[in-house]
Amino acid sequence: MLHHERLRPPPHDYPPDEWNIIEKRFHPEFLAQMETTLALGNGYLGMRGCPEEGGPNAENSTLINGFYETRPIIYGEEAYGFAKTGQTICNVTDSKIIKLFLDDEPFWLPHANLLRYDRRLNMKSGTLDREVLWETPSGKQVLISSRRLVSFANRHVAVISYCLTVLNAQAFVVLASEMAANQSGARVDEADPRLARPFLSRVLQPQASYSKDRRIVLCHGTEQSRLNLACATDHTLETTCPHSYKATHAPDFGQVAFTLDAQPNCPIQLTKYMVYHTSQTASPAELSGRAEWTLDRVVSQGFGQLLAAQEQYMDGFWHRSDVQIKNIREDRFKRSTVEIQQASRFNLFHILQASARAEDAGVAAKGLTGRAYEGHYFWDTEIYLLPFLIYTSPRIARNLLLFRYKMLPQARARAKELGHRGAMFPWRTIGGEEASAYYAAGTAQYHINADIMYALRKYVQATDDELFLREFGAEMLVETARLWADLGFYSDNRQGKFCINGVTGPDEYNVVVNNNAFTNLMARENLRYAIEVIEFLQANEPEAYNALAHKTTLEPAEVKAWHRAAETMYVPYDDKLKIIPQDDDFLDREAWDFKNTPSERYPLLLFYHPLNIYRKQVIKQADVILAMFLLGDVFSLEDKKRNFYFYDPLTTGDSSLSSCVEAIIAAQIGDMDKAFRYGMAAMLMDLADVGGNVKDGCHIASMGGTWMMLTYGFGGMRDNDGTLSFWPRRALQENAILRFPVTYRGQLLEVEISPDNVEYALRQGERLVIHHQTEAIELTTDKPVAKRPVIRR
Ligand code: BGC
Repeated sequence: MLHHERLRPPPHDYPPDEWNIIEKRFHPEFLAQMETTLALGNGYLGMRGCPEEGGPNAENSTLINGFYETRPIIYGEEAYGFAKTGQTICNVTDSKIIKLFLDDEPFWLPHANLLRYDRRLNMKSGTLDREVLWETPSGKQVLISSRRLVSFANRHVAVISYCLTVLNAQAFVVLASEMAANQSGARVDEADPRLARPFLSRVLQPQASYSKDRRIVLCHGTEQSRLNLACATDHTLETTCPHSYKATHAPDFGQVAFTLDAQPNCPIQLTKYMVYHTSQTASPAELSGRAEWTLDRVVSQGFGQLLAAQEQYMDGFWHRSDVQIKNIREDRFKRSTVEIQQASRFNLFHILQASARAEDAGVAAKGLTGRAYEGHYFWDTEIYLLPFLIYTSPRIARNLLLFRYKMLPQARARAKELGHRGAMFPWRTIGGEEASAYYAAGTAQYHINADIMYALRKYVQATDDELFLREFGAEMLVETARLWADLGFYSDNRQGKFCINGVTGPDEYNVVVNNNAFTNLMARENLRYAIEVIEFLQANEPEAYNALAHKTTLEPAEVKAWHRAAETMYVPYDDKLKIIPQDDDFLDREAWDFKNTPSERYPLLLFYHPLNIYRKQVIKQADVILAMFLLGDVFSLEDKKRNFYFYDPLTTGDSSLSSCVEAIIAAQIGDMDKAFRYGMAAMLMDLADVGGNVKDGCHIASMGGTWMMLTYGFGGMRDNDGTLSFWPRRALQENAILRFPVTYRGQLLEVEISPDNVEYALRQGERLVIHHQTEAIELTTDKPVAKRPVIRR
């Protein structure tokens, strides 16, 4: 069964709601999936959506971005230059547990008689809200309303407001607020290489623990990566019910138990403040001091103020990021407008949760919603997430690019290790060193260098942040261009063209190939951008140029060599099929037998030896088609069509990074049927669990891809040539309306596309010039400009 057939989204069970993802009943069978879906995070701290009661859990992870432990990678057979050190994100102290006992009976969801259950990810407030009405076997009814948030404004802080009322009786209540470290967290029963490897022994070594009144502090450190962590909680309790409390602590455990004589209808309001501080340099004593300062502050602010700050942050986010979709025809999409709107917001919300406060860190493939892919950062960030962030939250985009810059020393060392000049960014990493244990689908993906530089260019063009380019970007450009110049060679066999052999492109089902078209095209772009920037500096800012040349020992002859490499870059082309072969051998391979591949044997990587896959014509994810999107100007519409129809039947979409890109090209070539089908698969990738592995974490790259699909794909946005233009086709269909904001050079533009009209309005700023197709239009805040959509580009 082909990919787009297989990816038809299953119906999902969340009631349509524009701003909430609502779980209407407790689903023990979907525990893991709901933990991912309802996870909270702020880019620094992440908590899966486990219930307050400390269980039941499938994977109860609390994650700090960049908090990882290392271990030697053991190979059956070693070879020179293999990555030596594995890096795995750790499950840190779980601080969110609040156990409830009523007349000594524990409240435990699977056994409880629930008269009402409503849990929702509230994307307007940035909270996880739950309301439960529990009837005990003795007939006492208890209303529990809780709100949990991981603060965007205070990245070290999370808080739970937990309100309990016994409605119809008196009862003895214990609320045991706990913290627990070194819980296993991970599921180990699955043989899926995408999952994080479990640690065989305890990861967090206890360093200190103490309690003070209703406050508990637990400090731990990792042995190998030498990271320290302080996790601290504090509590306030408001009620007129008589009560007392007791605090206890141990190295891996802390508890404040509130004992109450609950009176009928008398609310008990517990607020639990949770704080995390981590550092490689600060001692546990210092970190616990920091955690206590933070606690002092937030306890005095109270839940109300933290919630208000969260809502304000969310308002700002949606104001500059929300894509609005209206009047979708339900019969066509099998989803209502509200459901599509809900899915789109869900995707953008999770990107925010993965990236907002990722300071001095990257964005993991799963964000902070799960430990799959070991918490590693990939090219996902630059190619799939950064476009959204650049055009909606440029500050976050800058932080992420700066983080890459800080990795340059390790990237230089890695290049050297592999005998290359320049820098070689790691395929997967947390700390900066290459952590990919399978070189063929890891280190061989040299294209990551060009991907980072592609994102840099987009960032600089969209923000005009020349300072960043000068201070950080230019140096990365020199080192990445150097790498390409060193890696490739002029092949006599190919009329002296510049060829790059022995690399893997985005498609991990065809590895270590020669002249992967995507890589060559993106490397050319990388070289050209490096040349443009260096020559500009040389001509206009000699001081900056000299400083850069000095720092990087750059010789003018090198830039000349880059010119030659870029201009003679070999890009495979097949005259007969008039398509771009994915690599030199791709067309020689035998076709994969799709007909006899049952749908349960996807993703192929879980059911076939790599060799069986590598020798066949079968594709994991968009490769040439991705190049056609990223470098849209280089290809004509006819090129895009021919290549799309050639590659479409060969593409399994076994990676979630594929559907969104296929949808964009399908939209550009006017195949709206495919555009909608792939588009819906991407849009619902997580909410409808299209890939079947949402339990392991959100597909953050695909989520970013859905924004690109709406803006670049359906909205016709183009920015390849350094200007911002729109070629909106009659966007969706009939009466559909698509509206989205774009931050461009510090100004906020809103684009609204309806069937017969496109309106450009400058919402913030003074004067902005953009293009409607090729026509320049000047916008001021007092004068929106209306145009007619194009039928096709
Ligand atoms: C994809 C990669 C991606 C990684 C993390 C893999 O399955 O093939 O392109 O970077 O997942 O999302």
